[in-house]
Amino acid sequence: MFKKILIANRGEIALRIQRACRELGIKAVMVYSEADRDAKYVKLADEAVCIGPAASALSYLNVPAIISAAEVTDAEAIHPGYGFLSENADFAERVEKSGFQFIGPTPESIRIMGDKVSAKQAMIRAGVPCVPGSEGELPDDPVQIRRIAKAIGYPVIIKAAGGGGGRGMRVVHTEAALVNAVAMTKAEAGAAFNNPAVYMEKFLQNPRHVEIQILADKHKNAVYLGERDCSMQRRHQKILEEAPAPGINRKLIDRVGERCVAACKKIGYRGAGTFEFLYEDGEFYFIEMNTRVQVEHPVTELVTGIDIVRTQIMVAAGEKLPFTQRQIEIRGHAIECRINAEDPYKFIPSPGRVTMWHAPGGPGVRVDSHVYTNYFVPPNYDSMVGKIIVHGDTREQAMARMRTALAETVVEGINTNIPLHRELLVDAKFMDGGTNIHYLEQWLEQHKR
Ligand code: ADP
Repeated sequence: MFKKILIANRGEIALRIQRACRELGIKAVMVYSEADRDAKYVKLADEAVCIGPAASALSYLNVPAIISAAEVTDAEAIHPGYGFLSENADFAERVEKSGFQFIGPTPESIRIMGDKVSAKQAMIRAGVPCVPGSEGELPDDPVQIRRIAKAIGYPVIIKAAGGGGGRGMRVVHTEAALVNAVAMTKAEAGAAFNNPAVYMEKFLQNPRHVEIQILADKHKNAVYLGERDCSMQRRHQKILEEAPAPGINRKLIDRVGERCVAACKKIGYRGAGTFEFLYEDGEFYFIEMNTRVQVEHPVTELVTGIDIVRTQIMVAAGEKLPFTQRQIEIRGHAIECRINAEDPYKFIPSPGRVTMWHAPGGPGVRVDSHVYTNYFVPPNYDSMVGKIIVHGDTREQAMARMRTALAETVVEGINTNIPLHRELLVDAKFMDGGTNIHYLEQWLEQHKR
């Protein structure tokens, strides 16, 4: 096992990884920007190294600074968390070439999955169900483009191979708009992602977002840890997640999970990963793979009892997965609410001094947050300041616990989206379960204030 790990991230996930290190008896080195100098998790770290000013490009994305921090502190491995450099294949390569273990998949796996065309092709080969679409990149010939769209059936969606974060996509409803839409998406993709390749998919009208968590080791063992429903989104940003996904047949999930595991074995995947799917009319359609730990991993931890971050570290150190598929059981129901520092209805970011932070507690309640009373939320980063996660024997109990937890939570000095979560938790459709990816935006439209 490693003796010392460098954590190349900030905020709640930096603290989450630091806690996993503590449990495993591993020393944690934190890197931090000048804006995060006073964060408690930085003070709690065994060692801390300032890697630059507040701007991410000069600190949390500053590869040479991170590598030299690992060198001067004698860390053996680097955990990238999520966001920042976590899905950057060049970074993973630099880490390994500099003699450190990257806590994540190989640079090759990141590269394959980072290109949506090659990811989809790998999935098709492994028998993972995908959205019907073009075979790979779209050609330039308008006649061929029209033929492909016709075969798929309108509406279609044009997507950038190098796209991410909900950008680089365009929905097309008619043949008349097709060729121009392809040209525009190509031009945007070239400018934004340095890769003009685009592909075409059937546009699903009312899907849910359901994803499968997997864990794999370096010895060709892989397992899936069930699914998460992350359909509650605004502008492709998830705000509330749950496990299991309400009303989806377990046998179907097992079949898809087994295909994900097969795909992992086929590409020699290691570490934690998530296969994201759209789910519509009883069918799963792969859209992309995330090659890192995800924000919403705790809901899976609560229903399986498996510590995903701990396992990531163990398999990176070369250990075998400490459980088999048969030992993994889904128990009860878990819900996560992301707490964002923003106006709950207008979504304007609300950084600043937190004058009061009172976190909830009690049976089945977990809070992952680096915030405390008098903490200053810097304006330079993502607005998420923490997560409240609850577990119950049933979905009803989990919802009741979340309502209690949200009622107990007090945050003063900044705005948060807690009022929105409180409303969603008593919304009749949400309580029924199974709302689709458009539900939240429609709800916001109807509850405009
Ligand atoms: P990104 O990497 O930018 O997040 P994804 O491929 O994961 O891109 O897609 C993001 C979102 O775009 C999905 O969650 C879904 O809401 C929408 N989307 C993507 N592909 C389709 C599709 N074929 N049909 C309908 N919606 C889609």
